[in-house]
Amino acid sequence: MKENIPDPKSKYDDVVEKDSKCVMQTYGRQPLVLSKGRGAVVRDVFGREYIDCVAGIAVNNVGHCHPKVTEALKAQAGELIHVSNLYYTEVQAELACELVSVTGMERVFFCNSGAEAMEAAMKLARARTGKSGFIAAEHSFHGRTIGALSVTYKSVYRSPFEPPVSTDTSFVPYSDAGAIRESINKNTAAVVLEPIQGEGGVNVPDPDYLKEVREICDETDTLLIFDEVQTGFGRTGKWFCKEHFGAEPDIMSMAKAIGGGFPMGAIAARDGLSFERSEHASTFGGGPLASAAALASIRVIREEKLPERAVETGAYFMEKLRNMDRDDVVEVRGKGLMIGVEIAYPCGKFVDYARENGVLVNCTSDSVLRLVPPLVITKEQIDTVVGVLEQA
Ligand SMILES: *Cc1c(COP(=O)(O)O)cnc(C)c1O
Repeated sequence: MKENIPDPKSKYDDVVEKDSKCVMQTYGRQPLVLSKGRGAVVRDVFGREYIDCVAGIAVNNVGHCHPKVTEALKAQAGELIHVSNLYYTEVQAELACELVSVTGMERVFFCNSGAEAMEAAMKLARARTGKSGFIAAEHSFHGRTIGALSVTYKSVYRSPFEPPVSTDTSFVPYSDAGAIRESINKNTAAVVLEPIQGEGGVNVPDPDYLKEVREICDETDTLLIFDEVQTGFGRTGKWFCKEHFGAEPDIMSMAKAIGGGFPMGAIAARDGLSFERSEHASTFGGGPLASAAALASIRVIREEKLPERAVETGAYFMEKLRNMDRDDVVEVRGKGLMIGVEIAYPCGKFVDYARENGVLVNCTSDSVLRLVPPLVITKEQIDTVVGVLEQA
């Protein structure tokens, strides 16, 4: 008699077939069906393991299924999954105060994703300044909703959905404070910047750039928004990337790693800058499950000193990448465990080779390998990753 053990090949085929039939084909997917993750490793339905240098795109900072995050979710799911923001919950209030503490800002507003956080930031800027224009950087990425798209640079992301919400957006070269000074006009509500650009190719600005932009914004009465969606929660070796540059925004957006893998977004704003009653809302924003996950995740980042760890392992990683015996690497750049390896040609083939050899990496901006592993990745795992990339 045949034993009834599910065949991984038929499982794989079944998933891919259902996806191709029923899901809008917006993603260029890798040929992997993932089913489990622990720490910096994920496993597919064939039982093959991969060191994950994608981490859900800078989301799983505390590692996959961190026991404290999983436990917090399980416990919360048995108490209360959702209630309206018409009511208080203990877990949301607790999280808000933790976020105020780690960001150094005055108040937060909760939503559910990075794009939504940018929407909130832009709405708040317009509401409090009475102006409608924005200045953003070339190669910026701020999300896919119509508002966030109007400050996102790549025209393939924007052009099918024209006109933008903000018809007064100027894109200026990144890391050029003078260009911002020249572009600010009477209608500019805010300057919107990633403190290190992620999707744009892991671009690190000059050390003085953000401080200079802060001064320009102060002189011209313009708000400054930092998009810390990708750079936040220890990724770059500080709780937030702004700390590297000694510049404070008026509003900052957060998402990706905030919930230890559970979806959540938020903005934080400095003293005196806030939405007023009924100005903004979100049904799910700051819900009990997301709040519990975020609270647990923030505590893990603090207890396990993950920002400090990112400094150390990031430096080790970059050093090893720079010492690779290859002549097609143009540059290795980044901060902490947000690393870009620019290759002299499109890097799609690297991604395939790495995957076939047990390492997941992502290619952004055509020729930049983006390495954003869980912050718990070990030096041993980094050695394996570099070994594979060296041979790719
Ligand atoms: C990913 C990202 C966003 C969008 O976040 P979503 O959760 O996908 O909407 C916005 N800004 C930056 C810098 C990002 O990296």
